[in-house]
Amino acid sequence: MNHRLPNHPDLPRPVDPRKAPSRPDDPSSKVLHVGGPNVGDRAVFDRYVDQIFDRRWFTNGGEVVQKFEQKLQQYLGVKHCITVCNATIGLQLACHALNLTGEVIVPAFTFVATPHAVQWEGLKPVFADVDPVTHTVDAEHVESLINENTSAILGVHLWGTPCNTQRLAEVAQRHQVSLFYDAAHAFGCSNGGKMIGNFGNCEVFSFHATKFFNTFEGGAIATNDDALAHKIRLMQNFGFAAMDQVVHLGTNAKMPEVCAAMGLSVFANIDDILQCNRRNYQTYARLLNGVPGLNLMSYNSQQQTNYQYIVTEVDEADFGLSRDALMYHLHGAGIRARRYFFPGCHRMQPYLSRRNESPGAPESLPQTERLCDRVLCLPTGNCVDESDIHRVCKTIQSVRDRRGLSNLHAPRRVAG
Ligand SMILES: *Cc1c(COP(=O)(O)O)cnc(C)c1O
Repeated sequence: MNHRLPNHPDLPRPVDPRKAPSRPDDPSSKVLHVGGPNVGDRAVFDRYVDQIFDRRWFTNGGEVVQKFEQKLQQYLGVKHCITVCNATIGLQLACHALNLTGEVIVPAFTFVATPHAVQWEGLKPVFADVDPVTHTVDAEHVESLINENTSAILGVHLWGTPCNTQRLAEVAQRHQVSLFYDAAHAFGCSNGGKMIGNFGNCEVFSFHATKFFNTFEGGAIATNDDALAHKIRLMQNFGFAAMDQVVHLGTNAKMPEVCAAMGLSVFANIDDILQCNRRNYQTYARLLNGVPGLNLMSYNSQQQTNYQYIVTEVDEADFGLSRDALMYHLHGAGIRARRYFFPGCHRMQPYLSRRNESPGAPESLPQTERLCDRVLCLPTGNCVDESDIHRVCKTIQSVRDRRGLSNLHAPRRVAG
């Protein structure tokens, strides 16, 4: 998520140097982004890059990628971890390797890459609603959508919060469909003491620059299924089993060496990044506690999360202002808070037209639609420090205090 589309008004943009603050040391002029990259240990990165140049081995599963994959397997406690160029292609490989057909049930409250990967494979994503507390897919609704065309359930561990993996496994088992996960947000998270990466048939991580763990661009597919891992590895490299030996349909989904070097440099710092995220979350929790109508997501103690997203819900009635009005005010103060996955995948193309074409099949997803109108994510990551968070929370408080005093819905039109 947070892919930068140059002309999209909601997305963070690089600061125009001509409009850069005149006092660059002034912390109140620093633009704060959601999804600013977590930076690993640069000395470690440089060392690997030197090796890559010395060896002149840039891609095709070289030493750095191999080392990174071993490290991933170890960290996740999973048998196989196959690196890929990004998670979207990783999800496509997973669909293909699982021999899916017909319909795949996905949550509507997710980044659009989830249904796009399914659709791109010629399958039909069928949207399920989410749980209002965890924001992950509602297992009861999933089960009600299963029919003879359903071949899989694709859960999303949104914000690093694990899905109800037990219930979903029961549903998948009962109906004999595959179960796999979009774990784009969930690197380093666990559920009941088991690391994400070990659930379902396979799980797909994203290492995009905005994610908790980044390799610039990249991803990995984790699985404990030997046969599935073998197939995915073939598919990831054009179906090559050995030199001149193509034994399977394949594509190019390889991770280059330099991205694996980035991954190893993040591993060197991963505890610090996690600690920083946790500290940021706790600071937000302390400062936002008691702001009426603004609820910070809380986490279940059975689950370990990476705190990569500071997820709040704005209740317009209690807060006194809409989520969007608050967001635009924060933007005006250089705080690029983001609403997420607005307006919901089921209301994006090509899925919106599909819905309009079959009016007999209503896709009313009340919880998804409610969250799309309420969720606001605030800046965090290892580029954001405590004073930045104070600034964000103070701004929120002052916007709330001034609500109703001026025309807050149009902050640029000054009254009088
Ligand atoms: C970022 C993201 C993806 C796509 O990951 P890429 O590595 O950018 O392809 C998929 N699903 C979710 C939920 C995401 O947030």
